[in-house]
Amino acid sequence: MLKTPWPAALAVLQLLTSPIPSTTAAPTASESPHPAPMLPAADAAARGASHTGGAARLAYIDTSFENASPVWYDFMPDGTARVHLLYDHERSSPNRAAGHIHFRVHAEPGARLTLEFANLDNIWNGRHGSVARELKTLVVSENGRDWKPASTVTVPTNRVRLTLDMPGPSLYVARLEPYRLSDLDRWLARLRHHPRVALTPIGKTVQGRELEIVRVGNPGAPWRVFLRARAHPWESGGNWVIEGLVGRLLRDDPQARQYLERYCVHVLPMANKDGVARGLTRFNLQGKDLNRDWDQPADPHWAPENAALESWLARMIQAGRRPHLALELHNDGSGLLHLSRPPVPDLAQHLERMRLLETLLRRHTWFTEGVTSSSFRNAGTLADGWLLRFGIDAVVHEFNANWIAGLNEYPSAQHWQTYGAQLATVFDHYFAALRTRP
Ligand SMILES: [Zn+2]
Repeated sequence: MLKTPWPAALAVLQLLTSPIPSTTAAPTASESPHPAPMLPAADAAARGASHTGGAARLAYIDTSFENASPVWYDFMPDGTARVHLLYDHERSSPNRAAGHIHFRVHAEPGARLTLEFANLDNIWNGRHGSVARELKTLVVSENGRDWKPASTVTVPTNRVRLTLDMPGPSLYVARLEPYRLSDLDRWLARLRHHPRVALTPIGKTVQGRELEIVRVGNPGAPWRVFLRARAHPWESGGNWVIEGLVGRLLRDDPQARQYLERYCVHVLPMANKDGVARGLTRFNLQGKDLNRDWDQPADPHWAPENAALESWLARMIQAGRRPHLALELHNDGSGLLHLSRPPVPDLAQHLERMRLLETLLRRHTWFTEGVTSSSFRNAGTLADGWLLRFGIDAVVHEFNANWIAGLNEYPSAQHWQTYGAQLATVFDHYFAALRTRP
């Protein structure tokens, strides 16, 4: 997570006066079809329900479903529900992370609720860093499938507030459009028998969930690109990007055939399946960050997800099929390409190829965010480690979770899928431009 400011935030907050761009105006309290029952004052206080406005308040936060974020909550005197996210922690480290948000609010239809999110004081790379400044946009949905953006307002001491007008008796709230394990399973089921796709099991997560590499195209194609998503469970954007990319490559048109003559794609679509299933934010179930420690061999006990991937990579290299390019997909509040600069002899050539990649991203996708500065270091990421240890041109690609500047739009599954489809063209031009054949 970078700490660069989010320039469009204020303008957007001003534009979006209601968190739910609703087509039907929420009824006022007096019009509410299910008026709140009158309670004795003591009961009301116990429930945190202030009756000053006469509106129904939060009845319950449901976190019983797949990928829901663990939370506890209480009420402030004005009826605001204070939602305490739970941190997940890194092993043998002060690092902790909260920021995944996915739950279902229950309240009277028509109620206006205020949620205040607390426990945003993350520790990242040993440094305190509130995630409040990055938490500008959430999404809400009545059915858990069709999502609309909702802006937050930052309040002092590292908290953010969200105001909701309840369109019905319940409303899902999430950090990003969720992409659950069941979404992945449905996608894999659709791909399983496709003639241009091969699914290869490579190992299991801490809890025994099977990890798979999805190969799209001819393994004998001259160029190979690898992508990984969901090392960090809250960052669902990468899964949508991958769905868009693979969908584009499997469209049976001349351009897709041209792409797959030039390159073959390998994907690990969900590295941290346990964390996604349990609604965690960052670490695996042994407290390991799967985008760290790549500067050394992966530990099969603490990080079996990485050990499985590393064994697969070793087999690829042994078979003469080393990937030429690797993208490690993430979400944060900035959306930069994180260039790696480990001490390798041909670093200048690597950075030159990454400049080519950046140029092509700007030309063929909505990417405008740019790259990290020359002083940026983040040793141990997959990108850093794969470049250092295996000589692979690898880069961490963040996607801004709050705003897509190149589209002047909020992020959405659809925009990320579009980006993935556009990546197919980027890879084609990238490999065509490299001077020497492999
Ligand atoms: Zn991440």
